[in-house]
Amino acid sequence: MSLTILAAVLSACSIFQKPSTASFQAMDTVMSLTVYGGEADICRDLQSRINRLDSLLDATDENSEIYRLNNEKTAVLSEDTARILRASLDLCGELDGSFDITVYPAVKTWGFTTGDYRVPNENELSQLASRVDHTAVAQDGDTFSLPEGAMIDLGAAAKGYAADVCTDILKDSSADGAVLNLGGTICLYGQKSGGRFQVGIADPENPAGYFGTLSCGACVISTSGGYERFFELDGRRYIHILDPKTAAPVGNEILSVTVCVRPDTDSLPGTRADALSTALFVMGIDEATDYYLQHKDFDFVILTKDGRLYLTGGIYDDFSLSDGYTFTLYKI
Ligand code: AMP
Ligand code: MG
Repeated sequence: MSLTILAAVLSACSIFQKPSTASFQAMDTVMSLTVYGGEADICRDLQSRINRLDSLLDATDENSEIYRLNNEKTAVLSEDTARILRASLDLCGELDGSFDITVYPAVKTWGFTTGDYRVPNENELSQLASRVDHTAVAQDGDTFSLPEGAMIDLGAAAKGYAADVCTDILKDSSADGAVLNLGGTICLYGQKSGGRFQVGIADPENPAGYFGTLSCGACVISTSGGYERFFELDGRRYIHILDPKTAAPVGNEILSVTVCVRPDTDSLPGTRADALSTALFVMGIDEATDYYLQHKDFDFVILTKDGRLYLTGGIYDDFSLSDGYTFTLYKI
């Protein structure tokens, strides 16, 4: 699956010397790391930490901790798995109704885990929706339990959490700056003295191209789009982002949501950016706008199917539309 939806280029690279780089497959996507300054083996450290997270969190991997929890219903989790699970449960509470990690039985039934796609009937859908309930996940220290019938999937926040873990590693290193493209989630690290990071936002109709560019400082940027994984049947497109209330793929006016969270606003900014991009997609433009106006501790770029582009005030002036695109811009 190709999930590389954003690419980042570092402007004024010359202020740093000899970047270390790595490119590899993890979390179902291609990742590429560029670190300026820092120890010679910094990219190897980051890569092995991401691979370790992948093997803990992948709900489809029989050896992962999440698979064990889903199948045995009680599991003692390692520090990383417990940390992302706690953070995800908090986000489920905050984003109640639009983000729910217990939507996994529905994700499986629609075939998004295997590619064996099918459309469940109404009866199945209401059964699946009744199994969605993040409040039923119980925790006692690092021991977590699920009720019969419940299963979780951290796929909507895992790359964001990986960005947070990588940021911790970078902080402990002598690195000056970094661009970590984790496939849909970009971690921009470091103080820039000579320039800002330029991040292209993928065109959902042609994900190899960019409809626009954001100029930003250190932050985590996460994009969710139906184009990342979907199937089509009888002229209808079914995307991998589900509405937890109906257990069905979201079919609203949105094509893609990009969220930017700055490091000083949250202890796990990447996890929040990743969860928010999924959740705002489910909310739709009106509810997403209301949510933003209530919080204002993040920014978004939302593209609709009819070419409207909504940008929040914190990034409106940092965005430039690529040549050839005629979207109508709205400032929120
Ligand atoms: P993302 O690409 O970050 O938007 O995450 C989408 C993935 O998260 C899907 O492939 C599902 O595995 C899972 N997912 C889908 N819908 C939701 C939802 N509403 N809340 C939480 N996880 C979801
Ligand atoms: Mg997400």
